[in-house]
Amino acid sequence: MVDALRRKGIADEAVLKAMDEVPRHWFIDSAFDALAYEDRALHIGCEQTISHPSTVAMQSQLLCLQPGMKVLEIGTGSGYQSAVLCRMGAKVFSIERQKGLFDRTRKLLSDMGLRVRCYLGDGYQGLREVNYGPYDRVIVTCGAREIPQALMDQLKEGGIMVIPLDDEDGKQEMLRITKNGPAQGEWKVEKFGAYSFVPMLDGRQMG
Ligand code: SAH
Repeated sequence: MVDALRRKGIADEAVLKAMDEVPRHWFIDSAFDALAYEDRALHIGCEQTISHPSTVAMQSQLLCLQPGMKVLEIGTGSGYQSAVLCRMGAKVFSIERQKGLFDRTRKLLSDMGLRVRCYLGDGYQGLREVNYGPYDRVIVTCGAREIPQALMDQLKEGGIMVIPLDDEDGKQEMLRITKNGPAQGEWKVEKFGAYSFVPMLDGRQMG
């Protein structure tokens, strides 16, 4: 899988090493074991998917992560992206809106000995009730219709947000947003092509 990622242009050795070390098949149903290391998204229940390995690699690379950084992830899903970031030395805080996935994934990550802080809630709001922020990095792993203001507010000055934003063709454009100081009041936005994500939905869903 790592060789295929290199061929697709992933060059960040820390990302490649973490993805080599985290067993992706642990995050999917065993019925899909044979496909675990193919570059494809797979169903994880609750009508959600684990992202393509190349998408996980791309988002992880775009974060320009350093060990020890605090990362807020929206869309825990299977927990695979959280595990990769944790393995890279990040302090990961991850929000999931579906209780079924939240319960299952929190247990899996803890059984694996990975210290990812999992929260059930609506990622559009960020982590308001628990104030661990501001975060060095924010990663959104579902397709957002707009850049959530709460997430920008919870991002450090100089911090980076990687977010797939809805375009007009029903896909998403991968954006990397660098937040400048409040004095400048500006964001730098870079674009990295079209991706396909499950939608980011409002509110917390039980069950
Ligand atoms: N990072 C995940 C990707 C899962 S797909 C992985 O590696 O497997 C995206 C996830 O985002 C889904 O589980 C979906 O339920 C969740 N999601 C969608 N809208 C959300 C929101 N507003 N807040 C939190 N999670 C959300």
